[in-house]
Amino acid sequence: MKTIIEPFRIKSVEPIHFNTETYRRQALKDAFYNTFLLHSDDVMIDLLTDSGTSAMSSAQWAGIMMGDESYAGSPSFYRFESAVKDITGMSVVIPTHQGRASEKILFSITGGKSKVFISNTLFDTTRANIEFAGGVGIDMICKEGKSPAIPAPFKGNIDTEALENYITRHGAAHIAMVIITVTNNSGGGQPVSMANIRETSRICKAHNITLYIDACRFAENCYFIQTREAGYASKPIKEIANELFSYSDGCTMSAKKDAFANIGGFLAMNDQELATKCRNLLVITEGFPTYGGLAGRDLEAIAIGLYEVMEENYLHYRIRSIEYLTQKLSDAGVPVMLPAGGHAVYLDAKQFLPHIPVDQYPGQALVCALYIKGGIRCVEIGSLMFGKYNEDHQLVPAALELVRLAIPRRVYTQSHIDYVAEVIIEVFEERNQIKGMKITEEAETLRHFTAKLDFA
Ligand SMILES: *Cc1c(COP(=O)(O)O)cnc(C)c1O
Repeated sequence: MKTIIEPFRIKSVEPIHFNTETYRRQALKDAFYNTFLLHSDDVMIDLLTDSGTSAMSSAQWAGIMMGDESYAGSPSFYRFESAVKDITGMSVVIPTHQGRASEKILFSITGGKSKVFISNTLFDTTRANIEFAGGVGIDMICKEGKSPAIPAPFKGNIDTEALENYITRHGAAHIAMVIITVTNNSGGGQPVSMANIRETSRICKAHNITLYIDACRFAENCYFIQTREAGYASKPIKEIANELFSYSDGCTMSAKKDAFANIGGFLAMNDQELATKCRNLLVITEGFPTYGGLAGRDLEAIAIGLYEVMEENYLHYRIRSIEYLTQKLSDAGVPVMLPAGGHAVYLDAKQFLPHIPVDQYPGQALVCALYIKGGIRCVEIGSLMFGKYNEDHQLVPAALELVRLAIPRRVYTQSHIDYVAEVIIEVFEERNQIKGMKITEEAETLRHFTAKLDFA
């Protein structure tokens, strides 16, 4: 088999600022050992997130020039609306400035006190918006999804048995909705099978429960369905996407992921009554319903990106590049989540640093070590992000201590990725010297964004 090449040429480049280990040690100290607080100029390879960091295509940049900035009724909105309708099959499309704005609007209306939201795994902003509105989020990930080292094709599946048991025990009346996150970002970027979505939809319909898709990485998920699930090998991605959305009542989307846009999102649904309430809130918080917090040019970029992301050559390269890095690390004995997910490589920090207890945040310790060693920025997805305190102020740790290396779309080449692998392997060889961390300052919600830390 020949090398799978990047399916693009580079027309415009951004310089990387090189720096030294000594410089980075100080920069990280100045940032209170929180990589979110670093200046990005001080980062050499930025794998903090795949959100809003994609390289747009020449067609998207051309779309930017075509953007019509009329306050109301812009043709850019109609092109955007038509793309979203074409892919999701939903009858109402509401633009927002990003995914969490869609969540805020949707959960302000459907959520509230004693309302429960059940998911395979809720993303951090999704959970935070549910809780902020007074509701409760419950994750019901399938058994395979709980063991990082055991490969399975669809580790993002929701545990449908647990869902049915919950409904039997507590009834369905207080369940605001079920949300399936595709791919499962906080659970390793693992895909959800069509069979699992179909079964979840059957359960929801039987109990009159609304089903939404958190669609941020819908195309990556559809590619996994095409390549791993029986009966989908010869179906085009768009057809698979159409089927996936057809089982749901609506979706939230961050266009900063699978739409190659630097900003944007949307909320789509079929319920006209709910849509009216959402639009009324949209006008107060985001903007008029034909722009919703976005410029006309952003709407154009999203409309074009939504089709580009479904191209099979792109998805083939995209998924392969994540697999390539995962494989290199795994071959060197580095504990990684298997199989590779759709948008990121996840290191298992508990296994990587067995000498650091969970209340000393092994994930964050690893994040810091990778920055110091190689100027690579990544993020902890573990107890710093998801940990809670009990009444005695003892840490209730997250289920997994992961470090996520999210790969921006169409941005880094194979030599960048080879360098990343080399740095991680070097850190792995010196892992015994890595020290645990403690939090010195934190916010009440989403603390990982602003927390200050130090060595324990
Ligand atoms: C990024 C993301 C969101 C939130 O979208 P933003 O555009 O960052 O507000 C919601 N859910 C998932 C799964 C995400 O990855």
